[in-house]
Amino acid sequence: MQPNLPLVFDGHNDTLLNLHLPDRGEGRSFFERSDLGHIDLPRAREGGFGGGFFACYVPNPEDDGWTEESTLAFTDDGYEVSGAPQLDPDYARSFADDLVASLFELESRGGLRIIRTSGELRGCLKSGTVAAILHFEGAENLGPDPSALEEFYEKGLRSLGLVWSRPNAYAHGVPFKFPSSPDTGPGLSGAGEELVRECNRLGVLIDLSHLNEKGFWEVAELSDAPLVATHSNAHALCPASRNLTDGQLDAIRDSGGMVGVNFAVGFLREDGGESADTPLETIVRHVDHLVGRVGIDGVGFGSDFDGAKVPGGIGDVSGLPNLLAALRKAGYGEAELKKLAHENWSSVLRATWRE
Ligand SMILES: [Zn+2]
Repeated sequence: MQPNLPLVFDGHNDTLLNLHLPDRGEGRSFFERSDLGHIDLPRAREGGFGGGFFACYVPNPEDDGWTEESTLAFTDDGYEVSGAPQLDPDYARSFADDLVASLFELESRGGLRIIRTSGELRGCLKSGTVAAILHFEGAENLGPDPSALEEFYEKGLRSLGLVWSRPNAYAHGVPFKFPSSPDTGPGLSGAGEELVRECNRLGVLIDLSHLNEKGFWEVAELSDAPLVATHSNAHALCPASRNLTDGQLDAIRDSGGMVGVNFAVGFLREDGGESADTPLETIVRHVDHLVGRVGIDGVGFGSDFDGAKVPGGIGDVSGLPNLLAALRKAGYGEAELKKLAHENWSSVLRATWRE
């Protein structure tokens, strides 16, 4: 990578699942350069990837008969994916345990370091070791008993999304729909409210990406931590159910929180389309809008690498310098680029983890 570019710390990747599922990663290794997927160690080094949130995401099992692809229907002006059914908590827990174990294996083989403090993040950025936050994308990963949160915290869990885009015992995720408001259903359950309090008590980041709007406002009311959406974009520029309205962005700003810009083309493009032929300027426009709303201290990246189609100008993690160059060309100075690249994540993590 170019020596004068800051390392990127990133709000979301699905690399663990991609490596885990043979039909996605085709058995590729994190340690060897591949053309498959978006992140492996050689490409991470090339792209100046300082690390990020490594999601443990549990897909619906085959016998549910539900997949995003098979339930996708095109409408006159967009698309709609029928709601994914709730997971069995025992299934979710056992799948999540496997993903957690796979992250620890990457660590034990020297591929990355699982960080638990912002000081450890800064240390990794200094030494060039890939830093990984153990993140749960959906609280069903905890299994039938939510008190497992503390057990996972002790292992290293530092970030939890209450939901993926489906309901669970705690809250309701937004089904994928374009165009659509994120206001798609009911708010948190009593167990969901209790989980928010527990996250606050332990200092676990609560990720608002994938949560519907009612749930968002309930967390905003309940939580005493900065509001964070790790991988979401501006609804004003791309009216997908997964994106954040200006009102939500204002609440994030008022809490001292932040948003990680998602590189998924479907959440970037004005037409919601799934084409990799999407210019990097589309990401720049979202950054501009988010910075305008949340401020230069409240925006970072949340690539969705290994979980979504990204613009051809990035391609995979080795293409991160192209995005930084596009932002520089659009007028972001060196200090601002540094904030977007990793400093804002570092500050928000420090505040959330109560250090
Ligand atoms: Zn996601």
